[in-house]
Amino acid sequence: MIIRIFLLVILMLPFSPGDMESKFPTGNAAGKNDRPKISFTFDDGNTDDMPGYAFRDWNAMLLQHLEKEGVKAIFFVTGRNKTDEKGQFLLSSWNDAGHAIANHTFSHPNYNSDKISFEDFREEFLKTDTIIRRYGNYVKLFRFPYLKEGNTAEKISRFRACMQENGYRNGYVTIDASDWAINARLQKKLKQQPDAPLAAYRQFYLDHLYDRAMYYEGLSQQINGRHISHTILLHHNLAAALFLGDLITMFREKGWDVVPAKEAFDDPVYQNQPTNIPAGESLIWALAKQSGKFENILRYPAEDEMYEKEKMDRLGL
Ligand SMILES: [Zn+2]
Repeated sequence: MIIRIFLLVILMLPFSPGDMESKFPTGNAAGKNDRPKISFTFDDGNTDDMPGYAFRDWNAMLLQHLEKEGVKAIFFVTGRNKTDEKGQFLLSSWNDAGHAIANHTFSHPNYNSDKISFEDFREEFLKTDTIIRRYGNYVKLFRFPYLKEGNTAEKISRFRACMQENGYRNGYVTIDASDWAINARLQKKLKQQPDAPLAAYRQFYLDHLYDRAMYYEGLSQQINGRHISHTILLHHNLAAALFLGDLITMFREKGWDVVPAKEAFDDPVYQNQPTNIPAGESLIWALAKQSGKFENILRYPAEDEMYEKEKMDRLGL
């Protein structure tokens, strides 16, 4: 009898479920969960010409990168410059290329400011909703300008209720960065020197965004214990028009899966509603803050030009 049990145990050992999984990853799910996931979102929507590039040209360059890489994004737009001919063209060009159009207020106010009330902020939100809702790929996601979600408990809870009443969800960012600051330096340079070499700007853009992605992925692993579907915040600007193809390629080469941005928001992590006051920043930053376990590594604001200034100065960017 003892020998039989012993034999049985020996026979069963190699077939424990854990062993099966590590040796023979089954199905797509196991393989996919092993890799970090990123999706791309673009904010604001600029209709200006850039140094050396007319508006329609640089916008087309950005869209071509997405098309070539087979990536579907979400475009979070302000309404104020979308009602004229250029603005309407911009929204149509993204909508018709299969990207989602979402709400980023009318005039980009900072909801953490005492100068803006809940009522004013609601007007901002509703006004842009009327501009974007006629587009076929309109989605009810709202992104707070500067990722500032309110500076008092009352403002925070009233706007959350307002989004819910209107069928909207928070268009959270998990990977925040300062691509806009790099873009500002790049434009300044091209204004002064139209044929300036761009390799150093490109490299800084790639390095910075990868550094921020790894930071938020590392923090997210500690909080969520898994690879979530990230949403990276980029802006609709010349830097993206020039370097987005390289950026997507870099993430893929480093082992990340690129997922459609609309699909990323199905990840349950986006159901969270952190309780911090003031509210906002990256969702991962906010969850880390709420946990009280990461005080030593959380800076405020989470991202800003001031953190990159010295590095860019040193590189002569
Ligand atoms: Zn914005």
